[in-house]
Amino acid sequence: MKAAIVTHDHQVSVEDKRLRELQYGEALLTMECCGVCHTDLHVKNGDFGDKTGVILGHEGIGIVSKLGQGVKSLKIGDRVSVAWFYQGCGHCEYCNTGRETLCRSVKNAGYTVDGGMAEQCIVHADYAVKVPDGLDSAAASSITCAGVTTYKGLKVSDIRPGEWIAIFGLGGLGNLALQYAKNVFNAKVIAVDINEQQLDLARSMGADIVINSRDQDAQAIIQEKCGGAHAALVTAVAKSAFHSAVFSVRAGAKVVAIGLPPESMALDIPRLVLDGIQVVGSLVGTRKDLAEAFQFAAEGKVTPKVALRPIEEINTIFEEMQAGKISGRMVINFKK
Ligand code: NAD
Ligand code: ZN
Ligand code: ZN
Repeated sequence: MKAAIVTHDHQVSVEDKRLRELQYGEALLTMECCGVCHTDLHVKNGDFGDKTGVILGHEGIGIVSKLGQGVKSLKIGDRVSVAWFYQGCGHCEYCNTGRETLCRSVKNAGYTVDGGMAEQCIVHADYAVKVPDGLDSAAASSITCAGVTTYKGLKVSDIRPGEWIAIFGLGGLGNLALQYAKNVFNAKVIAVDINEQQLDLARSMGADIVINSRDQDAQAIIQEKCGGAHAALVTAVAKSAFHSAVFSVRAGAKVVAIGLPPESMALDIPRLVLDGIQVVGSLVGTRKDLAEAFQFAAEGKVTPKVALRPIEEINTIFEEMQAGKISGRMVINFKK
């Protein structure tokens, strides 16, 4: 089967690969599609360590074609996800307290184990989340990482109906953050990006205030127009956006860090202490978060903007992503 494999020189090679036999509790998927997340770009570039040889992909949707021994939660023909949260240990303090993505023995698809950017993929049955009927597979692929991550980030932000949330970065994650914020959480959205194309998409999706921070002072505008946002969600791959977010919110607000630029941010201590600002990281979402995020998309509250591409174009897609030319999500199509 064809698979997108990371090479030692930080490219992706589309190769023929044979998967191992299924183990207890596992299922084999015939993949329908797999979205290309900016995290895949970090992984292939070695931003979090060398990952030569791994099959990329954690926005995968596939159909169960074979079951290993002991599987009770899936049956042949089910349509399910391959997510970044691939498997937890199931018995640690994080797994037992609704924080399973923080499991210290976690396995991550397309990072520590082979992922869904291939014609077939092995999943651990109890960790694959079923896609509701009526939700298109390409749309579901985007929800599997971009959707659930931003939906969960909004929960973490404690945003309430009618409040202002500033979203920094309106790319693959950010446009879904905007839709969940407006259509599920009933918040008002300030969209901040440096790329006019992304801001056009944000406008078309109903952003209440749109700011191009390349030539505008986002924090000054947000303080002036809203008295500071009630929360901020940062998906931008730039530390300047994290710095700006801290000064864009009002006292007592949370800044939820989601983007993963591999660098440090400076925090102004008096700003944190005197204004009671919290800066908190948020990592993907649990299986329950994903099931909820799928359901809102199935109900039409959130509609991912996706374009299907062949696997052979994966390196071109990464070049486009690096150059900021992608609007919404590129999704590798495996259906014949
Ligand atoms: P993307 O490339 O589709 O979007 C990034 C967006 O950030 C683009 O619209 C870009 O124009 C914008 N941007 C860049 N610099 C900016 C700046 N200074 N100010 C405002 N906007 C700016 O990427 P994506 O797929 O949406 O992923 C975004 C980040 O989130 C990546 O670092 C990815 O690894 C990370 N991520 C984290 C999680 C998590 O669980 N925390 C999950 C998925 C992805
Ligand atoms: Zn991702
Ligand atoms: Zn655990």
